[in-house]
Amino acid sequence: MKKVVLYLFSFVFICFLLPAILTKSKGNDKEVETTTQQVEEVKEQTEATPEYSYTKYSTINLLHKKTGEVEQVPIDDYLINVVSAEMPADYHIEALKTQAIVARTYTIYKVENKKHENADICDDSTCCQAWISKEDRLAKWEEQKRESNWKKITDCVNQTKGKIVVYGNQPINAFFHSNSGGTTETPVNVWGGGNYPYLQTVQTSGEEAYAQYNSEVSLTREELIEKIKTKYADISINFDDNEDLKIIEYTESGRVKTAKFGNHNISGVEIRSLLGLKSTNFEIIKENEKIKFIVKGYGHGVGLSQTGADAMAKQGNNCEEIIKHFYTGVTITDVNSI
Ligand SMILES: [Zn+2]
Repeated sequence: MKKVVLYLFSFVFICFLLPAILTKSKGNDKEVETTTQQVEEVKEQTEATPEYSYTKYSTINLLHKKTGEVEQVPIDDYLINVVSAEMPADYHIEALKTQAIVARTYTIYKVENKKHENADICDDSTCCQAWISKEDRLAKWEEQKRESNWKKITDCVNQTKGKIVVYGNQPINAFFHSNSGGTTETPVNVWGGGNYPYLQTVQTSGEEAYAQYNSEVSLTREELIEKIKTKYADISINFDDNEDLKIIEYTESGRVKTAKFGNHNISGVEIRSLLGLKSTNFEIIKENEKIKFIVKGYGHGVGLSQTGADAMAKQGNNCEEIIKHFYTGVTITDVNSI
């Protein structure tokens, strides 16, 4: 009989009293705050994640450039690898969510506008969009951050499931780059051809805080000539004449459109590529025997700036606000509705 009472008491203690004691001892304002935040997070996740299923674009054919292998992969699994290749994991979650939506949009645009014969998209950043295997990605992170970084990126992709950027109910050609130097560029100034109404020049504050904002390339006269020669064999510059090496035209965003290099007028885009500059937003400074190129920003400058997205997120903007800042007149919609 005594034993039964003891069991009964233990049962009551474990089931009712113990949890009550534990809960009470933790009860403070901080916990209330955390709980509210958790509820918000859970709410957000349940709104975006669980039963979402793609009625189209659920899997994509990914071409691995090096091996030539084409892999069929669920779109959001693919995007986790893309986001982890394209953006540092320590960026703000709203910036990572922005990158996830933009990369998803870019992918679907590529499915609709195929560049490769047997695949929707490839894993080469200079051709389509960067991609890194989970194994390689984890190996590049510090061991204690591997699990949390991967989870953070996975959550950002899952919380945006199905979301894409549209203009006129069509997925946009969602260009993005690293750092705009404060002002984005229009596509016509980079690739020629036509412009898109949603890719306008916009200004973003806070990008100057990132390492990608400032860079310079310093070359001797001979080095400069050698590099230009790879494209213009007869190049000849009179370095003693200030008029022989100068910028002659800027684009509306303040990047170099054309510069005079002796007997050739060369576009900013071509100079960037020939000299390995991080962007076409540069100044030319002659310093004794050296020619210095002082560069602002990193990348072509069209569309979303990744550092700009992180700066905006840290200023309190969410992913929708960031996307609408960089892409003019767009809407964020569910891919099943297009
Ligand atoms: Zn490609």
